[in-house]
Amino acid sequence: MACELLPTGNAPRYILLYEAAEGGAGVLRRLLKDPQAFPAVAREALRICHFNPDTGEDEGHAPGVSEICEAACYDCLLSYSNQLVHRLLDRKAIRDILMDFQSGIVSIAPAATPRTEHLAQLNRLCSSKLEESWLSFLEDNDLHLPSSAQGFIETCKTRPDFFYEEHNAAIYIDGPPHQYPERKQRDLTQTACMEDRGYVVIRFGMNDDWGSIVKKYPTFSGVASEFCGRISRQRPRTRVGCPARVRS
Ligand SMILES: [Zn+2]
Repeated sequence: MACELLPTGNAPRYILLYEAAEGGAGVLRRLLKDPQAFPAVAREALRICHFNPDTGEDEGHAPGVSEICEAACYDCLLSYSNQLVHRLLDRKAIRDILMDFQSGIVSIAPAATPRTEHLAQLNRLCSSKLEESWLSFLEDNDLHLPSSAQGFIETCKTRPDFFYEEHNAAIYIDGPPHQYPERKQRDLTQTACMEDRGYVVIRFGMNDDWGSIVKKYPTFSGVASEFCGRISRQRPRTRVGCPARVRS
């Protein structure tokens, strides 16, 4: 694994981690798929920073070393490659967050905002309780959240309830009004128009088994291709394996 601070310059706000080995080593994929992986990383980071991972107690230095490590030493955070930021490194500043990370789980944000914030935005856009329940269902089951809600698609004069950018998939959750024949016909025409233009239309109702619907479409689960995309734009050769795009 390698990392870079972004944006580069004096005030970086993010840490970009990527797989430096050509073709990738599967590390990022595992961090997403194995619920134990990220806590294990946090635990190892605490150990490297001279903290007891169970208690958080400061052991002061690496085993077998007598000199106390105040902020950082070559046994923990310092390396020759990060010399430019040595004065900023302080192992004590990250203890609490690493302790929290030990009980954390990794979830994938479909946008550049944190998942919780994105979910709140989607909820604000919902036009029915049914749509809100669908979002809660996705959240409770750790599934991918849509990229947007209630966006109008001009060419087919339709406004899907939700949309997944990466999979080009439009989601419609039909409430009781969709049972009327006239409405049913309009829905069919819109679906045909969307499919002709290459969209994947996923339409279901309040009484359908949502569990089997999410199993049927990789749009909702699997390793997020959004995540892959973001990594591959930075480092084209280190692309994490992505699921094939869905085409109905
Ligand atoms: Zn140290």
